[in-house]
Amino acid sequence: MAESVDCVVIGAGVVGLAVARSLALTGREVVVLEAASAIGTETSSRNSEVIHAGIYYAPGSLKAVSCVNGRQLLYRYCAERGVAHRRCGKLIVATDTAQIATLHKIQAHAAANGVDDLRLLTADQAKTMEPQLRCVAALLSPSTGIVDSHGLMLAYLGEAEDHGAMLALQSPVIGGAVHNDGIMLEVGGDEPMQLLARTVINSAGLYAQRVAGALRGFPQGLVPPTHYAKGNYYSLSGRSPFAHLIYPVPEAAGLGVHLTLDLAGQARFGPDVEWIAEIDYDVGLHRADGFYRAIRDYWPGLRDGQLEPGYAGIRPKLGGPDQAASDFVIQGPREHGVAGLVNLFGIESPGLTASLALAGQVVEIACKS
Ligand SMILES: Cc1cc2nc3c(=O)[nH]c(=O)nc-3n(C[C@H](O)[C@H](O)[C@H](O)COP(=O)(O)OP(=O)(O)OC[C@H]3O[C@@H](n4cnc5c(N)ncnc54)[C@H](O)[C@@H]3O)c2cc1C
Repeated sequence: MAESVDCVVIGAGVVGLAVARSLALTGREVVVLEAASAIGTETSSRNSEVIHAGIYYAPGSLKAVSCVNGRQLLYRYCAERGVAHRRCGKLIVATDTAQIATLHKIQAHAAANGVDDLRLLTADQAKTMEPQLRCVAALLSPSTGIVDSHGLMLAYLGEAEDHGAMLALQSPVIGGAVHNDGIMLEVGGDEPMQLLARTVINSAGLYAQRVAGALRGFPQGLVPPTHYAKGNYYSLSGRSPFAHLIYPVPEAAGLGVHLTLDLAGQARFGPDVEWIAEIDYDVGLHRADGFYRAIRDYWPGLRDGQLEPGYAGIRPKLGGPDQAASDFVIQGPREHGVAGLVNLFGIESPGLTASLALAGQVVEIACKS
């Protein structure tokens, strides 16, 4: 006979764990099913660890709203729970005068999202802050920061477990079926089992479409397309020349080759945008030339041989290279008609920043259905 449980969260990435925490805090019984042998081994450990301010997203979009709200919740959460983070600020730099107009547009766009603390700096002001920077002007975003994403996931998991949640590793969901009294999940791995859940949150990241597509009784026409936009990183050998995060003005599908810092002060550059057909995390040397060129635009001091292939993450995009940027999709019973099921699709950046806000929304939907 199948086991039964109140709520299952599929996927122990930062969003799945935030959802598990929020559900557990409402007193619900929660099991997290994770395919891998550890938490956060996919996109949640393959990103820039930036707490985004919420500057670029379309005003009113789920990305914009959940980023701005999520950022505030995240700073408070990190302070309360002792999760390592730093509000280091970021500079968006114009390297030619034609880009200054773009900085003004970015500032106005950010204000429409409720991010009204951006400050336009002259080249001299920016260079006083960052002497190695080449720019003609810059925008300072003081509320951008960095966070220890693994520490954050451990904090979410710890709190969820303190409220009774259970984590099952090496427990991939390989299929399922919609029943009258819940969703019967087929769990693979070394100890395959069936699990009947009243509520299922599909937070499987890059695999969320595959999971939804494997549920018999789910309207297949509502599974969105999947596109992968890989982001390669190169790390900088030696000390970081900058104390702030440094971003060029953005480009299509990504934010340009920018410099981010980890909490130990190590600098890395990226992610770039490489559309791929299959999941593949290898970073070769072959993209280095493009990185050197892009970085020297704002940091002429970069010497040959200073960049080393780092790591890569893959953005779960809902649209392809020629399509407009899509929003996060939270799909609940109102959209698909299956009681108790919430799918999260296209949770690319700023999903880490937005994790607590997204969790709040998911729990609201889950507790209504
Ligand atoms: C290059 C890059 C840079 C980014 N930088 C930032 C940033 O600086 N700031 C920011 O806010 N956001 C950033 N993001 C976005 C952020 O990393 C993601 O939004 C976030 O990590 C998504 O978390 P998740 O839990 O949805 O997905 P994931 O972390 O991918 O977790 C999904 C989990 O589901 C598991 N799973 C998959 N299939 C199954 C199954 N069938 N059964 C059970 N488990 C399954 C996987 O093993 C995985 O652990 C970046 C993303 C990328 C790609």
